[in-house]
Amino acid sequence: MVFTPGVSDSRQRGLIFAIEGQSLCVTRDPVIAIPMADTGGALYLGELDGLPCFARRVEGDLPEGSEPLPLRQLFGALAEEQFAIATRALGIIAWDHDHRFCGRCGHPTRRSETERVRTCSTCGHTAYPRLSPAVIVLVEKDGCCLLARNARTKMPFFSTLAGFVEVGETLEQCVAREIEEEAGITLSDIQYFGSQPWPFTNSLMIGFTARWAGGELRPEPTEILEAGWFAPDAIPVVPPKLSIARELIDDFVRRHS
Ligand SMILES: [Zn+2]
Repeated sequence: MVFTPGVSDSRQRGLIFAIEGQSLCVTRDPVIAIPMADTGGALYLGELDGLPCFARRVEGDLPEGSEPLPLRQLFGALAEEQFAIATRALGIIAWDHDHRFCGRCGHPTRRSETERVRTCSTCGHTAYPRLSPAVIVLVEKDGCCLLARNARTKMPFFSTLAGFVEVGETLEQCVAREIEEEAGITLSDIQYFGSQPWPFTNSLMIGFTARWAGGELRPEPTEILEAGWFAPDAIPVVPPKLSIARELIDDFVRRHS
């Protein structure tokens, strides 16, 4: 699919990726599907199988016959390409809504019809969709990998460590800093693994692998509930396949089995 900016100005019909908070409106008859609806005022995303796709923010007006379900729960229930479009719709709708007013002078902004940008009607300041890059790292030591439970989200699983990139920092510097701050250890052999858009926090997750170089594991208590080194045949409960964290862990297990 080619993603193209633009706004629907007619009453044409298309696939509507209607977003409410972090939920997507879907129909369930007989299987989970994206509703077809009028597209006036919606943001054009591109075409899927010959059908135009649009993103729209729900403000009490659900597409007919649909209900909002948390997007994360729809992973695996929607076709992969539909899920990818839905994650993009989530990010674009959040950007569009959060930049209705100029961050510089406070006056209203308006959408461009040719570019994915909102421009201030008074001072001309532009707001493009922005991402916050974050690194996520699988660290290895003596054939085991470092996994931790997050103290803030209190998710019921262990995962790889992650953190947002600071202004002026390289990705590799960020990897080394985050792991030293959160786990108290130093690293060597920091290698790029892959990346993943993560719309739930407007992020781009950039995955790395690395090796333990020194230091005792000393989890930072405000960030980490518990942490440990896990052998490939003793991996605890880990995140669902939706995330790059899981890809990093599955890759580790594959390499050691
Ligand atoms: Zn302005």
